[in-house]
Amino acid sequence: MDIIVLKPEATDTDIEHIIGKLKKKGLEAHVSRGTERTIIGVIGDTSRVSEDEENAIRAIEAVESVMRIIKPYKLASREFKKETTVINIRGNRIGSERIHVIAGPCAVESRKVVLEVAERVKSAGATFLRGGAFKPRTSPYSFQGLGEEGLKILAEARELTGLPVVTELMDPRDIDLVLQYADVIQIGARNMQNFRLLLEVGEADKPVLLKRGLSATIKEWLMAAEYIMSKGNHQVILCERGIRTFETATRNTLDLSAVPLLKQLTHLPVVVDPSHGVGKWDLVIPMARAAVAAGADGLLVEVHPNPEEALSDGEQSLKPDAFRQMMEEIKPIAKAVGRSV
Ligand code: PEP
Ligand code: MN
Repeated sequence: MDIIVLKPEATDTDIEHIIGKLKKKGLEAHVSRGTERTIIGVIGDTSRVSEDEENAIRAIEAVESVMRIIKPYKLASREFKKETTVINIRGNRIGSERIHVIAGPCAVESRKVVLEVAERVKSAGATFLRGGAFKPRTSPYSFQGLGEEGLKILAEARELTGLPVVTELMDPRDIDLVLQYADVIQIGARNMQNFRLLLEVGEADKPVLLKRGLSATIKEWLMAAEYIMSKGNHQVILCERGIRTFETATRNTLDLSAVPLLKQLTHLPVVVDPSHGVGKWDLVIPMARAAVAAGADGLLVEVHPNPEEALSDGEQSLKPDAFRQMMEEIKPIAKAVGRSV
């Protein structure tokens, strides 16, 4: 038993009664009140509920039906929630008809670069600013990010432009610091299965952008989302950023089939990052167009005023003018698939 669907006339007392029964079995409940029905999601090891106990719950008058979800992820599944989740971040609704574009440099390198990029991407139509203050670099000798100083720069750019900030959290020890500055916490590809980190952000009251792991299957990725959601934070945005395959001509293989597939499997919004997906700036715009056509709820794109000088990911960064061009090129495609930018 994973989901208990209540009759429309079920009262708060009925809900409390059912939650009490679940608690006795060591299970938690997530109550989601829809416009038509209230659904109780059962959280924990539901295999502990015997068939008799399940039938007893079914017999409660306020209960319409009791369902098992066969998939290993439950809270993240479409079966649990039919409508796409819309995540409202300072009035920007990710998962709505409008496609949101998150843009900015790979790393927060300096105040000058961030402020310039923020202004330029905002004027081209981006609705979020990105930039890493803590960078997961392959080499320990590469630039690791500015830490808190970088977070302060992002906050200043938000003050100036109004763009909400998306930034990566790498270590649970930094969570309080990052929460002070970020509007959306990014969990990077390399940390997608850092379960302690996932549980930590699951306790936060802040949207999470969960990037797909370098070699993660869709199921593993949704299980990572489930970790976050199991702690009560249901504001999870999935971000496809390419996976590792035999192909080395591009940095990764951008799996755009993940977008329509995820739309079937989960109610969570899906964003595509063509920058890390391809690793080459001149392939970013075509793949951004394709992502919009495939049904993405948003894009995440790296932009740098002078990519040659960038401290990380310069080769895949768009210059502000190319970013503007991308924004123009995705507009008619968004319209063709019933969306706007
Ligand atoms: C990034 O967004 O800059 C980043 C490090 O991405 P990923 O975790 O997808 O490699
Ligand atoms: Mn990057």
